[in-house]
Amino acid sequence: MAMTRVMKFGGSSVGSPEALKRAAGIVVGTEGPRAVVVSAVAGITNFLIGVLEGEFESMDLVYKKFAERHMDVARQAFGKEQLSDFMEDFGPRLEAFKALLKDEDARKDPYFVDNLMSQGERFSSLLLAHAIRAAGADAVALTSEEAGIVAHGNSQAATVDFAKTSINVNLNVKPLMADGSVPVITGFYGVGPKGQPITFGRGGSDYAATALGNALDADIVEIWTDVDGFMTSDPKVVPGAKVIDEMNYSEAAELAYFGAKVLHPRSVEPARTKHIPIYIKNSHRPEAAGTRVHNLGRPNDDLLKAVAMKVDLSIITVNSAEIACKPRMVARIIDAIAESDVCVYAISTSLSTIAFLIHNLDVKETLRNLNRVDSEIVEHINVKSNVALVCAVGDSLLASQGFSGYVFGAVKDAGANVEMISEGASDVSLNFVVPTDSVLDVVRTLHDRFITGAGK
Ligand code: ASP
Ligand code: MG
Repeated sequence: MAMTRVMKFGGSSVGSPEALKRAAGIVVGTEGPRAVVVSAVAGITNFLIGVLEGEFESMDLVYKKFAERHMDVARQAFGKEQLSDFMEDFGPRLEAFKALLKDEDARKDPYFVDNLMSQGERFSSLLLAHAIRAAGADAVALTSEEAGIVAHGNSQAATVDFAKTSINVNLNVKPLMADGSVPVITGFYGVGPKGQPITFGRGGSDYAATALGNALDADIVEIWTDVDGFMTSDPKVVPGAKVIDEMNYSEAAELAYFGAKVLHPRSVEPARTKHIPIYIKNSHRPEAAGTRVHNLGRPNDDLLKAVAMKVDLSIITVNSAEIACKPRMVARIIDAIAESDVCVYAISTSLSTIAFLIHNLDVKETLRNLNRVDSEIVEHINVKSNVALVCAVGDSLLASQGFSGYVFGAVKDAGANVEMISEGASDVSLNFVVPTDSVLDVVRTLHDRFITGAGK
């Protein structure tokens, strides 16, 4: 039986006539039942955020720019007849977009942001579906509403309801695939309980793709992007960085979370729970193997798979006598931090301190929240800004005796001071914080020693 696959294309794969044709060619050249998930045309989601932030003088201007960006690609990608076919779908949808821009009431809806931000996908899916048709296969553009991608959660932070989505896509999507047609589905958002679009957060089309793969019980999910796959480090920082050919789900999730842009960190889980391999592929070089993320069945002898880093972070240390023995106080402090939706990259505690690692930009608000906590609980707060997190990822890290010794030996050789450590929370990553001005040296030293050199 042919494999069922979900193929996801990112914004740069649909952002120019050449890229669009290339993506369509990849879909048409793939055998077996397949569904496509697509992101907005490159730059469009940022443009829509600009609209929300009031960057444009008038909604007419917004409408004009938005229409032009898509028409530009369509005019160059399609022949005369194809273009007129495309316009039949594009025209009415553009009218709906215009109406949304001018609808003052719609703006009062708490999910208006999601509604506006999800508009890009509604148009890129039309472009790609028509490009696939032009390339010789049958294709149908479907919105998340039409496909039945059900979600719940706060604005810009939706989670897919897998049970409901599975029922829907088996009714709405699978029969099309069985008939040899290619459904081209909007990524980035699902449909909430009131029928409102809720987005999955920036970069969330990857999550939409693996969620669809999960709901369809697909055999493979392919993420088509513009790089060759996960890299052992950021090639801009480490010139010797190379593509990782295969890795575990948990390694991929850690690496994605700590900054590798190729895959949205949330997209690993829906694939992992159903053992669906994820392939990261380069649409400019389809012949390249890419990275395969799956249940690595054999023990893996590389100590380190990758070294990632995140800069612009701050450590906030809260002092409170014997806090370690007073979990209620810990809860109160965490509560205060949770009042604003900041991302906490690491937590570490001692008898009388608790330290959090957060983004520099979140410091002000976090301090404001912490200052509201009883002075009995919070005695003293200290902030250390401009630190960086190094994330060393490897499958057998914690199982390898003495490994942290080697890593910290290398850090010492790079001349850096370790400010905070988080080890053991995940069995595939060793995370620690160093001053920003030494992070490049640390990352390069670790990469040279444990990945390129594979030595100690
Ligand atoms: N278009 C959305 C974004 O830019 C979703 C995605 O690209 O995955 O965040
Ligand atoms: Mg992306």
